[in-house]
Amino acid sequence: MKADPQSQRLLLELAAIDTSLAQIAHRRRTLPEHAELDRLDRELVTLEDDRVRAQVAVDDLDRDIARVDKDVEQVRARADRDRARLDAGTGPAKELEALQHELGTLARRQGELEDQELELMERREAAQSTLDSVVGRIEAARTAREEVSARRAAALSDLDSEQQAKEQARQPLTERLPVDLLELYEKIRESTGMGAALLRRGRCEGCRLELSASDKAKVRAADPDEVVRCEECRRILVRTEESGL
Ligand SMILES: [Zn+2]
Repeated sequence: MKADPQSQRLLLELAAIDTSLAQIAHRRRTLPEHAELDRLDRELVTLEDDRVRAQVAVDDLDRDIARVDKDVEQVRARADRDRARLDAGTGPAKELEALQHELGTLARRQGELEDQELELMERREAAQSTLDSVVGRIEAARTAREEVSARRAAALSDLDSEQQAKEQARQPLTERLPVDLLELYEKIRESTGMGAALLRRGRCEGCRLELSASDKAKVRAADPDEVVRCEECRRILVRTEESGL
């Protein structure tokens, strides 16, 4: 393929822009905010599980407390009834004695139930404080998520602007290049990421390898219009006064 040396040199400008575009794409993919958001999302899933578990514990204890409360109420009502009958003082002595006995039993039972309730309430307090702490951590993680998300959006928008500027500079360059040279460049770029490289002091800047003496001689002998390729990486090798031929 033939192309005037001026066009070949333009390829170096194009390659520099394409390298920047590749770096922008790489930065876009590897923004630390991506990993941070992933971590926060995983943390929020775990915390949400913790919250559900803590809420269930609180609800269970509430149910237990309500049940004991009801039991206490029943015992108290029964005792009130017994006392009323005892106060009326009617009925056989044996019956009154039995009532007296039952009142003793009921008082003990009420004491037991009240102890139970106290213990349950202490446990509920602990469960509630666990729940509160999980809810606090969820709020903190959500706030952090919003912050990181905003930071990521800002970083992405900066990258968009950078990319736009590079693409705007690229467009007129491609219009100045012969179609067949541009096509070759694009084909090589697709497969290697870089379509053309400068030959500097006998070394290909694409693959960083020094040309062999015979390759160097071939490049030296080639017409300036000839499009030469690196024998190692097959990129278009652009010759300038820096090439050391
Ligand atoms: Zn090379």
